Amino acid sequence: MMPSSVKMPQPPTPAHICPMDRTCSYLQQAGSELNIDRGILTVLENPRKVVTVSIPVKLDTGEVQVLAGHRVQHCDVLGPYKGGTRYHPSVTLQEVSSLAMLMTWKCALLGIPYGGAKGGIALDPHQYSVGELERITRRYTSELIKDIGPAVDIPAPDMGTSAREMAWMMDTYSMNVGHAVPGIVTGKPLSVGGSKGRQQATGRGVMIVVREALAQQDKPLAGASVVIQGFGNVGGAAALLFHQAGAKVLAVSNVSGAIFAENGLDIPALRKHVVENHAPMNNFPGGEWITNEELLTLPCDVLIPAALEDQITEENAPRIQAKIVAEAANGPVTLVADQLLHSRGIMVLPDILANAGGVVVSYLEWVQGQSYVFWDEERVNQEMEGLMVRAYHRVYETSQQRGIPLRLAAYTLGVGRVAQALSDRGLYP
Ligand code: NAD
Repeated sequence: MMPSSVKMPQPPTPAHICPMDRTCSYLQQAGSELNIDRGILTVLENPRKVVTVSIPVKLDTGEVQVLAGHRVQHCDVLGPYKGGTRYHPSVTLQEVSSLAMLMTWKCALLGIPYGGAKGGIALDPHQYSVGELERITRRYTSELIKDIGPAVDIPAPDMGTSAREMAWMMDTYSMNVGHAVPGIVTGKPLSVGGSKGRQQATGRGVMIVVREALAQQDKPLAGASVVIQGFGNVGGAAALLFHQAGAKVLAVSNVSGAIFAENGLDIPALRKHVVENHAPMNNFPGGEWITNEELLTLPCDVLIPAALEDQITEENAPRIQAKIVAEAANGPVTLVADQLLHSRGIMVLPDILANAGGVVVSYLEWVQGQSYVFWDEERVNQEMEGLMVRAYHRVYETSQQRGIPLRLAAYTLGVGRVAQALSDRGLYP
C-alpha cells in the first residue's frame, strides 16, 4: 500500500481544469520532484508540432461536409512519434495535445524508444456509413502524408477507431509513396502485418498491473471482484481476460448504461450478445440494467474506468467503494478526485502505466515489421508481460523511496528519462 506521509499535488483552482492543464500540472510536479531545469521543462510543456487539417467528405446523400482533423506531435527526443487516432464528438485540439504529451511520458516510462503524438477527428463514428468513414480516414491520412511515416510518426487505433481504420491509413500512405509500408501504422489487421496479441494488448496490460498490485496485498486475481466502465477495445478485452483469470466481473457498461450481476457476469456470453449479435446491452438476460454513475460507485476490489476522461470527479470520488482504481482510459480521474481517492487510501494505478500495454505491443508490432520476422502470440505476450511487470515495480519502488503517490512516481520516471535525453542531446541549433 501507499506510504502514509506522501507529497500530493496542490489542488487546482477551479476544481475542474482542462486536460492540457492537468497533464502540465503533473509535468510540473515531476519537474519539481526531480529539480529539472526550468528551460527543459518549458520545452517539454510545448508540443513540437501541431497540425490541423480540413477533411471535406461527400456523404452518401451527396451532401458535402467538412470536418476538422488534428495531429499533435509532442516530443521526439527518444524516437519517432507514436500515438492513437481518436474518432469521438468530444475531440478538441486541447484534448489531443494533452493525450500527445501523455504518450511521451508513457513511452519513456515503459522504456520504449518513441515520442508522444495523438490524432483525432471530432465526429461520432456511429453517425457515418462504413463508406463515409473510409473516405474520411483516407482524406485525413493524405492530408497528413508529409507529417507521418514509419520513422517519423506512427498512428494507432484509439477510441472510435480499430484495425479497419488502420488498414485504410496504411493503404492510403502506401498508395501515395508507391510501395507497401506496413510500418506506417500499428494495430493493423494480421493480413497486412499486424501483430498477434495487439487487439487484447491494452486490456491485458491492465490485468497485469492489477494482478501485480493485488499480489503485493497478498490477494489473488482469481476471486477478485472487478467493475469495468466501457466495453470497447480496452474494456471488452479486459473484461474477458479478467473473467478467464477467475476474477468476478460484476459490471460493465457502454455509452447507454451498465449491466450488473452480483455473482459476476458471463462475459463470453455478453460479448457474443453485444459484439457478435449486435444486440443492445440492456437486453442481455444475465444481469440487471443500472446507470454508468451507479456502476462507478459499486463495492468491488478493482474499478476500471475504460471509456472516457473525467469520469471520477470530486463529486463521486467520496462514494467510490473500490480498493484499487486502474485507469484503463486516459485521464478518467480528475486532479481533485485523485487527491480524494488517495486520502481515502484507494490505490490509483495511473493511466501512463495501466493502459500502456497497447503501445507496448504496438512497439513489438513495429519491431516485427522492421525486421520482417513475425512472432507467435505467446512470444508477444511474454515480451509485453516482462515490460509491464518491470514498469509496475519501478513505479511502485519509486513511490516508496520518494514517499509520493504512484502517479507522481510514474511521471517522475517518464519525465525524468525524457528530460535527461533532451539535456544530453542539447537544443538545436
Ligand atoms: P472504444 O471506442 O473501443 O470503446 C469505448 C467504450 O466506452 C465503448 O464501450 C463506449 O460505449 C463507452 N463509452 C463511450 N462514452 C461513454 C460514456 N459517456 N459513459 C460510459 N461509457 C462510454 O475505445 P477504446 O479504444 O476502448 O478506448 C477507451 C479508452 O482507453 C480511451 O480513453 C483511450 O484513449 C484509452 N486507451 C485505448 C487504447 C487502445 O489500445 N485502444 C490504448 C490506451 C488507452
